[in-house]
Amino acid sequence: MTIVRKSKIVLVKKYSLSFEWSHQPGSGFSFACTKKGNLILSETPIPALENLLKCLNGEYDVIPQGVINCSYTYVESAQLQCDCGELIDLVNFRNTCSECALEYNMSGQLLAPLCHCEEDW
Ligand SMILES: [Zn+2]
Repeated sequence: MTIVRKSKIVLVKKYSLSFEWSHQPGSGFSFACTKKGNLILSETPIPALENLLKCLNGEYDVIPQGVINCSYTYVESAQLQCDCGELIDLVNFRNTCSECALEYNMSGQLLAPLCHCEEDW
């Protein structure tokens, strides 16, 4: 077996241009934008653009919140190539190859078959 991808923490940078309803704090509108507040048009469908226009022209009774940092991180699991050639994401305590049924732990170490583990008790 070969580890083809090591586990790593991935940072996703996201920002939104936000508006909050004046009569309902905590709810409102947010639009994908850059850190400097420039709208990301590819992530803004037409209905969202219409809502943004209503936020900006006063049609909606909202309070501008400015640019909100919505960045987050997640753990990308390691990936192993089993000796049979199958790729396995190492996301669980036991990760079973769907092709040959060998099992690996999250570090990619081959595990003994489960029935043998039970016999040791
Ligand atoms: Zn396999």
